[in-house]
Amino acid sequence: MDRDEELLTSLGGWSGFEIVDVERREGAPEEIWITLRRKEEAPLYCGACGREASRVHEHQERVVRDLPLFDAHTYLKIESCRVWCDHCGGPKRQQIDWIDDQQRLTRRFAESILSLCSHVAISHIARFFGVHWHTVKRLDKRRLRERFSCTDYSDVRVIGVDEFALHKGHRYATVVVEPSRRRVLWVGKGRDRRSFRRFFRELGADGCARIEAVVMDQSTTYELEVRQHCPKAEIIFDLFHIVAKYGREVIDRVRVDEANRLRDDRAARRVVKSSRWLLLRNRDSLANEEQQVRLDELLAANQALMTTYVLRDDLKQLWRYRHRGYAKRAWDGWYQRAIDSGIEPLMRFAERLKPYLHGILAHTRWPLHTSLIEGINNRIKVIKRTAYGFRDDEYFFLKIKAAFPG
Ligand SMILES: [Zn+2]
Repeated sequence: MDRDEELLTSLGGWSGFEIVDVERREGAPEEIWITLRRKEEAPLYCGACGREASRVHEHQERVVRDLPLFDAHTYLKIESCRVWCDHCGGPKRQQIDWIDDQQRLTRRFAESILSLCSHVAISHIARFFGVHWHTVKRLDKRRLRERFSCTDYSDVRVIGVDEFALHKGHRYATVVVEPSRRRVLWVGKGRDRRSFRRFFRELGADGCARIEAVVMDQSTTYELEVRQHCPKAEIIFDLFHIVAKYGREVIDRVRVDEANRLRDDRAARRVVKSSRWLLLRNRDSLANEEQQVRLDELLAANQALMTTYVLRDDLKQLWRYRHRGYAKRAWDGWYQRAIDSGIEPLMRFAERLKPYLHGILAHTRWPLHTSLIEGINNRIKVIKRTAYGFRDDEYFFLKIKAAFPG
């Protein structure tokens, strides 16, 4: 071996092998083909049992990709062999300790790809390294399966549950989280009681008995299922969902009604119609003073919008109480104002929310940051865009778990 080859071999770290040839192939991108041969003196190991094999059974060539050398795609042509293993009693693939079994990539190349998988879309990684999209996905999925195949429920006392849409809203899935650890515990298809029941089966009887509180959207389906399995658990309704619902059912409705009422005043009507975004945002998240002034003018000119806007902020305050009695008093006041407002959608909302009051008051005992559920909701949308141009629910669910590993 000359000096250059020695240098390349030591940089390459292909232990047990030596370089017999290096070939550059012009093109875009350029390719470098390195032929490696097993060193005579290197011990042979069986790819099945890992023990030392007695002899070479037959010679064999395989091609694997390695990390790029500068910007050239790098291929290793390996003059390898099948070994004869006395323990397994037959010919087996030779174990090479820098290639994972059955892979067509070196381990470090696979690791480089994997290190990008939690940040970058598969298609970008595939294009960057010049490997197939399915190769990247297969590696990522395998790794995620290893990491998330079994969940430790031993210390889980408070959980959150939510649904999200699969495939443009035609089908749904249920996600269970542990808010205190920012961890996704479980994801399953469907959003009915039977689907949710699979989680409790996995959690087991002891796990169910340990659950003290469950935070969720005001959903009878999930609540009934929790009551059946977790006798101790208190139900808490989550601020994020209720406020979002208020936006849809009250603010949006009132805005449309007001726009209709202003049919004859075209300028005023246009202002109200185009105010959706302004009304649904929090005041402190408005970008600039101009938007705040627009909001103030809109509210000043319109009594019904003002009332619904103010009552939304007051509704949110109910989640800030730590004392049940005060929270109850605040609710009574809020409810009365909603009913007295004479605004139809607001009155309807208050009536519908009333039977769920227990879940709002329970928040005084369990002051959970429900922003986690909102965060997961948003993150799921991003994952769906970047990693989910294909129909593999298992992989999608694993990606969700990986985004919130705790
Ligand atoms: Zn063996």
